[in-house]
Order: sequence, then structure tokens, then C-alpha cells
Amino acid sequence: MRVLLIEDDRMIGEAVEEALKEASYASDWVRDGELASAALDHQDYDIVLLDLGLPKIDGLEVLRAIRTRRDPIPVLIITARDAVQDRIAGLDSGADDYLLKPFELGELLARMRAVIRRKGGVSGPMLCNGSISLNPATREATVNGVAMRLSGKEFSLLHALLIRPGAILSRSELEDRIYGWGDEVESNAVEFLIHSLRRKLGSDAIKNVRGVGWMVSKGD
Ligand code: CA
Repeated sequence: MRVLLIEDDRMIGEAVEEALKEASYASDWVRDGELASAALDHQDYDIVLLDLGLPKIDGLEVLRAIRTRRDPIPVLIITARDAVQDRIAGLDSGADDYLLKPFELGELLARMRAVIRRKGGVSGPMLCNGSISLNPATREATVNGVAMRLSGKEFSLLHALLIRPGAILSRSELEDRIYGWGDEVESNAVEFLIHSLRRKLGSDAIKNVRGVGWMVSKGD
């Protein structure tokens, strides 16, 4: 999962970014509305965390621009603006949820999971495919009911595949889900992670489509 964090407050930004990394999200952090728009033009994100009071372009404008181009990306507003009118304006401009500062990082992560789940059309907390289940809250996988410990990057890669069953993801698409700006991308990292996931989950859990990428089967 790749997150765009749009926040001009350094202390809040640092705290959120650290919590995101700990929860195995790849995250990119921008501090004004202009950089946010540029990032959204050039990179695919799974969710946006949006402060409203931002330099250069206001957060609500950033949000309206996202929705004007019919981009369905989940947007969670994080702001100190607590007036009811601000909340209404945020939700009516296309935000999926709204969290008031100061907030607990645990609640932020839980709301992110809920918003991502709703947008993906998944109602339950678990991602299931065949004999494999993945719990995004605990980052634990089970195979036929047997728990498997995953590294943070193994979790991110498996999650990227499980939320799009039947879709083939290329190496660079998978790298995009695992690494944010400034993260060093190890060569062959994707192959290495697929190899170790197959060892843990069974050799047919993740299918290779030669020359194209990897996928999990749809609908079983
Ligand atoms: Ca702000």
C-alpha cells in the first residue's frame, strides 16, 4: 500500500510517517498543495491523507481537483478545523472520512484500513483468497488456518496482490506498492519476496505470468 501524506506541520508529519513505516506502508510526504498535485499526477496511490490548511493550494482545492477528474482514490482528511461546516464541506467535496487533530495514530491506521476496505468493496476485516487469509490490522497471514509470520515487505506485496485478485502486477507496479520516495529499491527484491512468500504460503499461492508479472487467482 502506498500512501500520499499531505501535511505541512513537521511534527505531525514526522509522527504519521513513522507510524506508516512501522505499519509497512510505503509513504511519500509532501508539505504543500502544489507538491501534492504534482505527486498525484505522477504516482498511483492507495490512499491520501490530507491536511486542509496547506501552503499554496488549500487542502479542499486539492480534494476537489482529485474528484473533478473522477479519481476514486480514498481520501482521509486529517485537520484541526473542527467547525461542523468544515467537516460537511470536506465530506461533500468527496472525502471518505475525517479525523480531527489531535488524533491517536492507532485510530488513524484503523480508519485508513476501514476506508481502503470500503473502497475495495470488502466488508469484513480479512482478505481471503483460497486457503490464504490476510489480516491487514495484525499483518498476519494464515494458510488453511495455520498462522504464518510475514516480514513488512512480504505483507505489503501479498496485500497488493490480494486486493486485486485476477490482476497481473508487474515488477515495477509491485515495487511502487512497497517502496516510497527515498527508499532504496534492492534489485531482485520482488523476486526474492515472491520466492519467500511461496515458501510460506505454498508454491501455487502466487502465479507468475512469464514476462508480465505476478497474480493471485480470482474467485476461489
Ligand atoms: Ca496545516
